[in-house]
Amino acid sequence: MRLILLGPPGGGKGTQAKRLQDRFGLVQLSTGDMLRAAIAAGSELGKKAKSVMDAGQLVSDDIIIGMIAERIEQPDCKGGFILDGFPRTIPQAEALDRLLADKGLNLDFAIEIRVPDERIVERITGRFTCAKCGAGYHDKFQRPKTDGVCDVCGGTEFSRRADDNAETVTARLNAYHAQTAPLLPYYEEKGKLRVVDGTLPIDEVTRKLEEILQTANVG
Ligand code: AMP
Repeated sequence: MRLILLGPPGGGKGTQAKRLQDRFGLVQLSTGDMLRAAIAAGSELGKKAKSVMDAGQLVSDDIIIGMIAERIEQPDCKGGFILDGFPRTIPQAEALDRLLADKGLNLDFAIEIRVPDERIVERITGRFTCAKCGAGYHDKFQRPKTDGVCDVCGGTEFSRRADDNAETVTARLNAYHAQTAPLLPYYEEKGKLRVVDGTLPIDEVTRKLEEILQTANVG
């Protein structure tokens, strides 16, 4: 199965992708995570991307498409994948169509996790992750069971993303509405679009996504 999670920054795509990958044996492909890994590694790509990301703007289509084209060739993608944060522009969506068509593969769903703008700032500025295992938390909505200790791995170091601040959120939301929202009608026309209310509790959103995934054509 191959699916895309669409929706604004901080809407829960990453959180839900992580849950679905375990339950459905899919791989989460997050272009944001790939770029952050490139920054952490100090690569040329990372250097180029950092200032763009810190400004809340989109990295160029060429770079992103190249990155995804390479990634979906990896053997772990054979069993299916969840695209989280890609595509983010119409040219990226068209490139994805070509990449899949070349391999004789189809896309099952593009699922919008819908969250209104006014909820986003609070969601983004409160989030943090375990520095050791990457488990996601939130100051208000999803605190670790014991303060300062990761529920999953027991790690005690946490980190916050450089671009998760109130100033950058506005630019990221603007980029979402101007460049990514046009993908909603794009996938609607192809009969691939499904919508889930992303303001529901996290488990409830997962349940709705699972219901959609269970309707996929097997084979
Ligand atoms: P994310 O982790 O998905 O919120 O992405 C963080 C940042 O990485 C974005 O604000 C963009 O600067 C960049 N980025 C991630 N994915 C893409 C993409 N598909 N196209 C362009 N820029 C991207």
